[in-house]
Amino acid sequence: MTGRTDTFDLIIRGGTIIDGTRQPRFDADVGVRDGMIAAIGDLSGAQAPVALEARGKIVAPGFIDSHTHDDHALLSEPEMTFKISQGVTTVVTGNCGISLAPLKPDLPRPMPQSLLGAGDPSARTFERFSDYLETLRRTPASVNVAPMVGHTTLRLMTMASLDRAATSEEIAAMRGLLVEALDAGAIGVSTGTYYPPAAMATSEEVIEVCRPIGGTGAVYATHMRNEAEGSVESLKESFEIGRALNAPVVISHHKLVGEANFGKSAVTLPLIDAAMKCQCVALDCYPYAASSTMLHTDEARLRGRIMIAECASHPEHVGRDLADIADEWQVSRLEAARRLQPASAIYFIMNEGDVRNILSFECTMVGSDGLPGGTKPHPRLWGTFPRVLGHYSREVGLFPLETAVWKMSGLTAKNFGLAKRGTIALGQHADITVFDAATVIDKATYDTPTEPADGIESVIVNGALTWHQGAHSGARRGQVISRIKADAQGHRA
Ligand code: ZN
Repeated sequence: MTGRTDTFDLIIRGGTIIDGTRQPRFDADVGVRDGMIAAIGDLSGAQAPVALEARGKIVAPGFIDSHTHDDHALLSEPEMTFKISQGVTTVVTGNCGISLAPLKPDLPRPMPQSLLGAGDPSARTFERFSDYLETLRRTPASVNVAPMVGHTTLRLMTMASLDRAATSEEIAAMRGLLVEALDAGAIGVSTGTYYPPAAMATSEEVIEVCRPIGGTGAVYATHMRNEAEGSVESLKESFEIGRALNAPVVISHHKLVGEANFGKSAVTLPLIDAAMKCQCVALDCYPYAASSTMLHTDEARLRGRIMIAECASHPEHVGRDLADIADEWQVSRLEAARRLQPASAIYFIMNEGDVRNILSFECTMVGSDGLPGGTKPHPRLWGTFPRVLGHYSREVGLFPLETAVWKMSGLTAKNFGLAKRGTIALGQHADITVFDAATVIDKATYDTPTEPADGIESVIVNGALTWHQGAHSGARRGQVISRIKADAQGHRA
C-alpha cells in the first residue's frame, strides 16, 4: 500500500484496527502525514519522527462525544483533559437548548444557561456565533468542536419575558440569529423545552424559529419536553418537528425517568425504530442510571436520591444528599433546593435495564452529557467512553467492541454530518485513539468523579500526539468542524 521509503509525521506500528464502521478488526500499521491518515498497511520500511508501538492494542478512530456542554470549557480548560483522557477527539456542543453564543454580556443567564461557565465570573459571552467560532480557531482546544446553537439562548437574546410563547417579531429575530449561526458553520440547532426558560415554547414556535435548517443538512437536536410520563408524546412531537423542518432529528440522552416509567424503553425504542423508517432520526445516551443537570426548584423534580454536584452559594455541601441538607436545616427539600441556588445536582432516577436497552439499541450513539466544572461532577464527565468499552462491552457483553467503537465514532460522524471524521481510512483526519481492550475501564465514580480512566494509551488529534501513557502533551490542535453543505434536496455531499 506504500513504498518502503515513505516518510510520515507519525506511525502507529503493529496495532489491531477497529475502523469505526462495525467491520471486523484487522492488523495494520497506520501512517499519518499533515494531520491526515496517509497510509494503512505494512509500514515496516517507513520512517517517522514519532513511532508508537501498538502491538496487542486497538487502534480506533478518536471518539466523538455526541452530547456535551463543553462550550465554555473549550476556552477555559483548553487541554480538555477530562475528554482527551477518555480517547475523545471531537465534542458536539450547544446541546439541550443552550450554547455560549450568541449572547449579550449584560443579559441575565437563568439556569440551565448558566451551566455553561458556572462559577466562572470571567466567563465570556459572544454576541455573534461567528465570534465564538473565531475565538476557538484562534485559541484552539485539544479537541475538535462541532458546534450547535441553542434555541433557549436565542430566546434569552430576543425575549423580554420567557414565560410565554414567542411573538412573530421575536420568532423573526431568533430566526435571524440562527441564520447567522448556520452561515458561521453551526452543525445544527438544539432545544430544551424541558427547562423553564423554554418550556412555554410551542411546537409551532420551534418550527418557525428553526425553519432555516430545512434541507441544509443541519440537525435538530432536542432535550425533549418530557422524559417521564409524557415521553411517548414528546417523541412524537420531536418527530413531527423534524418532519415539518425537513431536518434530521437527534433525540438527546434518551432516558426514562421516575419509577413509574421504569421499563418503558420497551415502548419508546420501537417507536423510535418505526420513525427511523420514514424520516432521519438519531439518538444518544450516556452509560449511567443517574442524570445530572441544574438543581430544580420544582417539587415534582425533587423526588428520589439527589446529590449536590456543584454549588456556588454553599460549596461545603457539594457531594452531599439534598435530603440530608434539608434535614440539617429543618426545611423541606424544595426550600433547601431554593437556598442552594445556583447549583447542579445528580439525580438517581433511572432503571439499569432501560439504560442497557437504550445503549444496546442498534442506532444509539454514545454521548457523555458531562457538565465540566466543580469538584464533584457526575462521573460521566471523565468516564463515559471507557465505561462503554470496558464495562458494557467487555464485562457485561452488551455488544462487540466493533459495535461499541462505531457507536462513538463512525455512527456519530454520519449522524451529524462531520466530514472525514469518525473512521480509520485513507484521507481521513488523523483523529486516533489507541487503547488496551483488556484493561480499558472508567475509574470515575460518584465518590471519586474526576479519576482518569485506565487503558487509554495514546490519543492523536489532527495528527498531533495529545495524550500518551497517562499524560497530556500540551498539544492543542483541535479544529472547528463546520457543517457539510447539503444539496437542494437536503442530501449531504
Ligand atoms: Zn439535556
